[in-house]
Amino acid sequence: MGLRSGAEYIESLKKRKPNIYCLGKKVDNVLEHPVLKSTIATVARTFDLAKNPKYEDLLTVESPLLGGERVNRFLQPFFTVDHLVKRQHQIRFLQRQLGSCALRCTGLGMVNSLWETTYQIDEAKGTHYLDRLKDWLKYIQRYDIYETGCMMDVKGHRGLRPSKQPDPDMYLHIVERRPNGIVVRGAKASQSGPAISNETAVIPSAYGHDEADGPYAVAFAVPTDEKGITYIMQHNTGDALAYTGDDRDLGNPRYGGGFGSTSLMIFDDVFIPNERVFMAGEWEFSAAIVRTMGLMARMWQCGCRPALMELLTGAAAFAAQANGVANAAHIRSKLNDMTIHSQTAWGLALSAAYQGKSSPSGSGIVLPDSLTINVGKYRSVEGYWECCKLANDIAGGLATTVPSFKDYDNPETHGWMEKYLQANPDVPTEHRMRIMRLIQ
Ligand SMILES: Cc1cc2nc3c(=O)[nH]c(=O)nc-3n(C[C@H](O)[C@H](O)[C@H](O)COP(=O)(O)OP(=O)(O)OC[C@H]3O[C@@H](n4cnc5c(N)ncnc54)[C@H](O)[C@@H]3O)c2cc1C
Repeated sequence: MGLRSGAEYIESLKKRKPNIYCLGKKVDNVLEHPVLKSTIATVARTFDLAKNPKYEDLLTVESPLLGGERVNRFLQPFFTVDHLVKRQHQIRFLQRQLGSCALRCTGLGMVNSLWETTYQIDEAKGTHYLDRLKDWLKYIQRYDIYETGCMMDVKGHRGLRPSKQPDPDMYLHIVERRPNGIVVRGAKASQSGPAISNETAVIPSAYGHDEADGPYAVAFAVPTDEKGITYIMQHNTGDALAYTGDDRDLGNPRYGGGFGSTSLMIFDDVFIPNERVFMAGEWEFSAAIVRTMGLMARMWQCGCRPALMELLTGAAAFAAQANGVANAAHIRSKLNDMTIHSQTAWGLALSAAYQGKSSPSGSGIVLPDSLTINVGKYRSVEGYWECCKLANDIAGGLATTVPSFKDYDNPETHGWMEKYLQANPDVPTEHRMRIMRLIQ
């Protein structure tokens, strides 16, 4: 089949019938949904960019599983240091293009952590999970599947492990074993993108302690509209603008939805056929998969946040110009600080990749340097919040209080907004309002 275009990805969504709820109503058409439509456009753009020959080396990679065919980099495990390095460039590039989460990193995290752990289980127990995983990987690579990843169980009482919870469903678990598969029940919280993806891969989120945690040690892949799966979409103040505002009120109307796609994902006795089960009861290996997935998450956060910080720096510089203070010494110093935050995190992201080493397990996977990527993740999060603070400081109060574009378009209020929301006459009022929304 080869690499899909954005249009082909969107076409694939039309064939699915996932069970989604939002704001008290069932969502029948994700393509028309006010929040999801820009989320879908974000993912579609990642497909289109990967098909562009200009970005072939950055966004695609030769797959040894498909005899060297080029596949999307989001679907290929890390077998070399070069894979790690290009991966960091890939996510920084996409973040720069989209100004938003690309929504596909969790799937890549799953591909790597599942490879590493299925290898370890097979070595210890003589199972054949890695062969199954390879068959699945060939499928998702060949059909260029949009795969998301679920790790975060709802977790119930945080002080209690899975098998000690008063309600056994607080961590996803096996409720029935059949000759041809397993049945699972539970829920995953804060999942990015599953309602608009083709498939989701699921792993445990808690370390196993003994046999009692066995049913919770479960990993599998499942189509996102499988019978028994329900999504309850997030709703927050950012999303509210998508329902009430003008497109210009969204800051990043085309792709900003990358941050608006999470759901509470409920598995109400869902059947998973054996071919897609990659772990079923091996509680001794839950810790290994959680650790590897943790490394993967640190890696993508450290790789993408520098680009978000760059975006904020550019937006803050423009806001300063719109406000008429671009040359003030303290503004220039703050913009310098923002650049230092983004470049420090990016340096650590690259350093961790270049120091990558073959996993000690012998699985063939190459992992980023653990200490560097942990420090990098810390720096990227701290730096990001610092950049948010500085961007808001530079932009001023309007970044929080700017009125809606619906009022800007209303003839009764337009004149006042045009007059009183202008600062530097060289920058049109509308542009000043829009940059404030982007920073918001
Ligand atoms: C926008 C967004 C997108 C996300 N996308 C995904 C995704 O695609 N896939 C995915 O798997 N996950 C995803 N997540 C989930 C994310 O990984 C979790 O939210 C995160 O790991 C924290 O878990 P939690 O929300 O349950 O917080 P909690 O675990 O409840 O943490 C809250 C606080 O309690 C503390 N705490 C928790 N347990 C203990 C304990 N036993 N002892 C002492 N202190 C404790 C924590 O340190 C923290 O300070 C996403 C989250 C967000 C916000």
